[in-house]
Amino acid sequence: MSPLTVGVAMETAPGERRVAMVPQVVGRLVGSGLDVLVETGAGRGAWFPDGAYAEAGATVVARLDLFARADVVVSVSLPDPRTRALLRGGQTLVGLLAPLPRPQVMAQLAEAGVTAVSLDGLPRTLSRAQSMDALTSQANVAGYKAVLVAADAYPRYFPLLMTAAGTARPAEVLVLGAGVAGLAAIGTAHRLGAVVRGYDVRPEARGEVTSLGASFLDLGGPDLGGVAGGAGQGGYARALTAEELAGQQEALAAAVARHDVVITTAQVPGRRPPLLVTEEAVKTMRPGSVVVDLAASPLGGNVEISAPDETVVTAGGVTVIGAGNLPALMPAAASAAYARNVAALLGHLVHDGALTIDTADEIQAGVVITHAGRVVHPATAALLTGGSAESQSGA
Ligand code: NAD
Repeated sequence: MSPLTVGVAMETAPGERRVAMVPQVVGRLVGSGLDVLVETGAGRGAWFPDGAYAEAGATVVARLDLFARADVVVSVSLPDPRTRALLRGGQTLVGLLAPLPRPQVMAQLAEAGVTAVSLDGLPRTLSRAQSMDALTSQANVAGYKAVLVAADAYPRYFPLLMTAAGTARPAEVLVLGAGVAGLAAIGTAHRLGAVVRGYDVRPEARGEVTSLGASFLDLGGPDLGGVAGGAGQGGYARALTAEELAGQQEALAAAVARHDVVITTAQVPGRRPPLLVTEEAVKTMRPGSVVVDLAASPLGGNVEISAPDETVVTAGGVTVIGAGNLPALMPAAASAAYARNVAALLGHLVHDGALTIDTADEIQAGVVITHAGRVVHPATAALLTGGSAESQSGA
């Protein structure tokens, strides 16, 4: 039997510099008996030259050759339509495909006979799935980078500095949302010497924030301090009611005004991000303050006046940065972590040199979106038949 061939495709999304596989991990795949093809220049944006892949045991090939020969194509995000058209029946596509916002595309892949495997469907609380958790690895990069972006835009020092020319007070940094990205941001801002406060609606976040050397922001009032009952299912937050959200915005506005830098990372699965920082709240910040909204999206973010990939300086002198694809700005580290996630998932899917799809397996039930001509992922299938993804995913 010829070995399973994994093809590493060049990313097609604008501004994407990551690559799904790095030379170091190619060596591991080859060592485990897989053939690896890498599209010419696929790693260039992340500073991995073709030669490094070849040295690790991969074969560097042209795009058409890769799509013709690979059994499994690995990518970071969903390839563009022209590239998807190169996929053929029986082939498997592995990536962060974000199936829920685009169920029709998944239906097209199913129709083409492509098995689509999406890392963002992974059951994240399962400890044996942790090494495959690409949402976590990329959120870690994003949280770290958000602080560097903020520090770069901030016109003062982050740490306390005592010099002959006087003393600089440390920056006061507030991180709203203390999930994976938020905790990475808190740790990074703390290491840069800022005074850091973190806040989340899940009560368990309090201990995680304080263990990183930051303090937990208490908003006061019975429903806002920890926010009692802010936890939802699967370790995620629940969506707050309109009344709770209004109370939260008001209480947060006072805290926002006291900080030099605010980094927002709050998300609720399957919903638009909660609005935490209103335009009025931004107006109360001191000139030179910086806001970075990691949740910025075309549907809106955590900050009323943020938009993805856009930086605005308000009339009051506050720089509001809507984050775009932050992991793509740190492509070498983000790709290395992502490649390990992909390799771990392939390790789970490949048995005796063959890809084994079994949606009765808990991990596969989350990640396998299409197989054997059908959309098999319940939440994605529900969207195609007019149902709600939320009721199917348990989110
Ligand atoms: P996420 O990206 O969905 O949300 C980011 C944070 O925003 C969360 O901490 C959430 O509680 C918070 N948030 C939502 N609404 C808010 C609001 N109105 N105000 C303030 N904060 C709000 O979450 P994530 O970073 O992907 O992780 C979510 C949870 O999953 C965490 O508990 C994390 O520890 C857990 N997790 C567990 C594992 C594992 O067990 N292996 C892996 C990854 C994540």
